[in-house]
Amino acid sequence: MIINTSADLARALDQQLASADLTERLRIVASLDGRAVFTTSLGIEDQVITAAIGLGQLPIDVSTLETGRLFKETVDLIAETEERFGIAIKRFHPRQDNIDAYAAKFGLNGFYESVEARHACCHVRKLVPLAEALSGARFWITGLRRSQSGNRATTPFAEYDAERDLIKVNPLADWSLDDINTYVEAESVPINPLHARGYPSIGCEPCTRAIKPGEPERAGRWWWENDEKRECGLHVPEAATSLVPTPA
Ligand code: SF4
Repeated sequence: MIINTSADLARALDQQLASADLTERLRIVASLDGRAVFTTSLGIEDQVITAAIGLGQLPIDVSTLETGRLFKETVDLIAETEERFGIAIKRFHPRQDNIDAYAAKFGLNGFYESVEARHACCHVRKLVPLAEALSGARFWITGLRRSQSGNRATTPFAEYDAERDLIKVNPLADWSLDDINTYVEAESVPINPLHARGYPSIGCEPCTRAIKPGEPERAGRWWWENDEKRECGLHVPEAATSLVPTPA
């Protein structure tokens, strides 16, 4: 395959990663020209990737979005993970002026009142800090898995993100939850204690609840919304709109 563009590289990488294991997938990405950034939400999938980066001592930046509304258990896990794997996790925070503008327009917890307000909150607390975290990166590594939800069922190993002009890499795309749990057990990976209390997917505290037996993994995220494909906009860019000023 002739590689002329980032989209070409993403297609070639998608094929190459399919036959590799997790550490090898990450090593391949780290060996390519351009900075690789992994953004972790400290969920169990992300903890597996952080472990593989730390144990393999791979030159991949690990960053997290400290939204200001995280569970205490999640915040505590950041430091515990750094210590366990001897790595530094870079924290990115929302801008106070954006938070103030959001609160003035919608109220601090206005996300319960409308989808518009919810997307605006995710925009200021997640998407703007994410753009900072990915600034200058060529590769963005995520913990997406195909079996997490219907709209993630076709997640590739690598794809070109035209909106952000980078290559998104999903090294756990073909992993099952059983695979994740097996790795966590084998490598003694620290995980969020909320998982054991019925939270398979953990985001901000006001927007995450425990799920009931038989519910889909992400049913506890923004549970009051009807849209089956609800996302925060990190992985479905059009989901979150710019309703407050975006910093330059
Ligand atoms: Fe705001 Fe909830 Fe989105 Fe967190 S998940 S940024 S609290 S709307």
